This record gives sequence, C-alpha cells and structure tokens, in this order.
Amino acid sequence: MPIKDYIISTLNLEPDDIETFDVVRKDAFYTHLTVKDHHPCCPVCGAPAKSKGFIDFTFQTMPVNSFTHYVIWHRRRYICKDPDCHYAFREDNRFTPGSLHSSYSLMTQIAKDLHNLHFTYKDIALKNNVSMTRIEVYADSFLNVPRLHLPDNIGIDELCSDMAKYGNAYLCVMVDNNGRDLFEILPSRTKHELLNYFEKIPAEERNKVKYVTMDLWDPYRDVARRRLPNCLVCADGFHVIEELSRCFSRLRVDIMNQYDHGTSNYYLLKTWHGLLETDKYNLDNEPRYNGFYKTKLNYRDLYEMILKVNPDLTKAYELKEMYRDFNKNATAENCSKWFDQVIDTFLEADLPCYRTFIATIQNWHQEILNSFQRPYDDRKESNALAENINGSLREAITVSRGLSNFDRFRARSIYSLNKHLTYSITDNLKSRKREGKERGQYTKTAIDSKITDTDDTEPLKD
Ligand SMILES: [Zn+2]
Repeated sequence: MPIKDYIISTLNLEPDDIETFDVVRKDAFYTHLTVKDHHPCCPVCGAPAKSKGFIDFTFQTMPVNSFTHYVIWHRRRYICKDPDCHYAFREDNRFTPGSLHSSYSLMTQIAKDLHNLHFTYKDIALKNNVSMTRIEVYADSFLNVPRLHLPDNIGIDELCSDMAKYGNAYLCVMVDNNGRDLFEILPSRTKHELLNYFEKIPAEERNKVKYVTMDLWDPYRDVARRRLPNCLVCADGFHVIEELSRCFSRLRVDIMNQYDHGTSNYYLLKTWHGLLETDKYNLDNEPRYNGFYKTKLNYRDLYEMILKVNPDLTKAYELKEMYRDFNKNATAENCSKWFDQVIDTFLEADLPCYRTFIATIQNWHQEILNSFQRPYDDRKESNALAENINGSLREAITVSRGLSNFDRFRARSIYSLNKHLTYSITDNLKSRKREGKERGQYTKTAIDSKITDTDDTEPLKD
C-alpha cells in the first residue's frame, strides 16, 4: 500500500517499528498509530518499567494528496517497577519537537518553503494546510539571523519600502560582492543609522573591509570613510551612465519641443531617439519602407538624419558615447589619464545640459577610478549584485502585496539569499511581533483547539 509507505517515510519510522497502523479518510486523513514497545528503563533510577496503558497524542504532519493529515499516536505510558521510585513517564516522542503538535517533516518542509522567496506566507500556509499565523511563528522561531561578519567587499544599496523606519522611505541592503550573498538589511539608509550599525562592530573587523561599492549617494561614502578606514570606495559605473543618459534625454526632449508636431525633426527625435540611446540596433539592417518619408530607409539613414538635427545634440551625443567608451574599456592601469581627458573634453564643450553631470564625476572622481579595479574573479567593482538581490527582495514584497514586519522580512530574506545560513527547528516558539499594534479578538475553531502548538496540556496521571 503505497500511501502507507509514504506516511511511514514522512514520520521517520521503519516498517519494523510499527505495531498498528490504520488510515481513515474523512474531511482529512487520520492515521492511528502504535509503535512497538521498546521496553524502556526508568529515566530516573534505571530500573525496568512496565507499560501502563496509552494516551493519545495528536499531531499534524505533511499533507497527503493535499489533504490535511493528522496522526493520532497511541502513546504508551510507563511506570517504574521499583516501588521506591514509581516514576511515571511516556514513550519517547520521535515525531515532533518537544510537545508541539506538528511533525518534524512538516516543519522541515515549511522551513524549506520559507527559503524560497517566491512563496508568500499565504502560499506556504495553503501548500502545507497550516494557518498563516503558524507559518509566521515558525519563521520567527526557526530563522535566527544574527549580525553576520563583515565581508571584504561590501555592496550597499537601498530598497524603497513601507517597512523603513525612523521617517525614512528606504531600507539599506548590504551584500557580499565576493561571496555573492546578502548579509544584512537595515531598517533605514540614513547616515545616522549606518554610523550606528558600523560603530557596534569591532574595529578589527571593520579594518579588514577592503572595498565598498555604492551608487552615488554621499552619506554612504561618508559612512564608509568614517567607519571602514581601510576600504576603497567604488562608485557604480552603471549609475554614472544612468545620470549621463538622463541629462542627454532632457536635452533631446528640450530640442524636440522646439519643433512643431509633424515636422521631420520632431518626428526623428520623437520616434527614433532610441538610435542614440542604445547599442541594440544593427544600423546596417535591410532598408524598410518609412511611412513618414515615404521611402525605404535603414537605421543608419535615420541615425545620420537625427545627428543633423541640432549641433548641440550631436555634440552631447558624442560626449555621451565617449564616456560610455571610457566606462566600458578603461582599465585600472589607464583609467586615471583617460578619465582626465574625458573630463577636460566635457569641460571644453561646456554644454549646459552636462553641468550637473560634470559636477558629479568631479565629486566622485576617485571612487569612479577605484571601480576599475578587479580584485576578485576578474570582475570590475560594481553594485550589480546588490541591484540584483534588491530585485528579488522587491519581487518578494510585491507578490506579498506589501509586507509590514521588518524583523521577519530581514530574517527570511537573509536566510533565503545567504548560502551559509540554515534553519533550526525548535519547540521554543516565539513571534517577532510588530510594535504598537493591538491584537484583535480571536475565536478558536474546533480544529485549532485540538491542534495548537502550546504545551502538552494532558496532565500525567498515575
Ligand atoms: Zn525509577
């Protein structure tokens, strides 16, 4: 009977361990179970003990064909034969931690499901036929994430969330760029919060941090300089390019708006600006009929036309491409000289659209140069991993339609995205309750009263 084999396997039993086994299917599966008597000795005095009947212990285990599954274990009671001792005790419980009413296998499955950030708490609750509150209590109890050791190469980024604290809109996410793990989430990205966090870490540990990558956010740099004295701060190249592209787009839109709708220049800047913004076009493609010009054109024709619209736009485009070339191809050895030339060219052109950009690259001059170092795995220093991990966290928040408990979010996220952390199943349940929210009225349902993870309330009677 395959279902019996399945049930036995999920209960950590061998077929030889079983004395009686009976499955009843009603609204759920109920397995009635007795295991063979192992004739235990008295745990107090070591004298032989005698069996003294049974007491039922009901617990929930993994679903069978998506039906909830309860095991009613007819648990033996014993009494010490030594008349001076007469100690009463019960058969060893190998099914559930302590006196909890959920099996190890069910809890292990829940802990594994918690590892997958694609599952919301509700998904896990439905999958395992357990209430969402219990899933949250298990998450709070099994996932203990202490402060982890600082890695050599830190990536810092922010994540917009309602869970942010201290009047801030962002959480701060920190990753290990070399080990490719998430190692910390802080409830705010303010300078104050970050200084506090690092201050509590022993100087010896902080002094070992060699690199910190970040976007162009001054407080991160200030904190790194003050608390991580031996690190090189590296500005993420992608963010520099992003700012440059924003300046270029603003100029393009300004120029476009100088022309009337329906004019050739307006059409080119409105419809074909992508040709100046990405490399994804193969300019020498097969010419196609263009409805506006009523002739066949390929991308190169349009590209050349767009560069004739306005000399400032063309100049700005050339500068932008020059910077992108520098960002892509410079090396740790030649970047310093090359960067000086780049900055000089921007300054000479003196385009108003790039004034803020020039200020940015001057402000972040050394950090941009540092980003060309390749200390590990021949990878340029960038914030790509932090961005990537942030994407997963953002998705987890979205699929849950918002999350509100920061501590729970932090623990589960780090557990899921750090390969060194594991869960530990315990019968010492706790809940990371949010502050300041009163608990509402709660009425127990019949099955809740039968199966709750509180102490085993049946008193031991002789
Ligand atoms: Zn005894």
